Amino acid sequence: MEKLPVMEQFLSLQGEGYHSGRPAYFIRLGGCTVGCVWCDVKDSWDSQAHPLRSVEELALAAKASGAPAVVVTGGEPCTYDLQWLTKALRDQGLQIWIETSGVYPIRGDFDWVCLSPKKFKEPLAESIARAHEFKVVVYHPSDLDWMKGFVTGLTPGCRLFVQPEWSKRESIAPLLVRFVQENPDWTLSLQTHKYLEIP
Ligand code: SF4
Repeated sequence: MEKLPVMEQFLSLQGEGYHSGRPAYFIRLGGCTVGCVWCDVKDSWDSQAHPLRSVEELALAAKASGAPAVVVTGGEPCTYDLQWLTKALRDQGLQIWIETSGVYPIRGDFDWVCLSPKKFKEPLAESIARAHEFKVVVYHPSDLDWMKGFVTGLTPGCRLFVQPEWSKRESIAPLLVRFVQENPDWTLSLQTHKYLEIP
């Protein structure tokens, strides 16, 4: 789509996962039907509630921010065909990363795909196969068993992360520390932007 509903766009740091700590310009698209109970951006769910912005306008703002990379997030950004957006960002010489639940096909040219599966709607096998990073937000201890069903569909070399859901971090983090100690292919991810109180 040449225009997309945008909830917010801002310069920050990637707070979590593989690129944690790196500067990035965030484009948060409106629209999501996944319905996670612990979602911290529920205001994003209604696509009609957010203004349409042209992909060129978004790409120029991202370039002007000075960040070398853009994180396309949501909501669920793969609700939309993102080929126009990634072409516009590419024309500005930016790295393009995406955060998706994988429930829809990933349409666009991305340098880094972070797939975070959700219990409330399963990811597509074709999306799992495109992930460079598989990041599981753990809300309940049983999530560690649930996620194993997806790992065989990942490509070799995909980076594996477990991350405590923010509201459960005090009870879940010790469990995840033990998990990565016993499963060294996995890495602990924390939402550092929330600890720092930055967007
Ligand atoms: S997929 Fe993301 S935006 Fe959608 S409900 Fe879940 S956490 Fe919220």
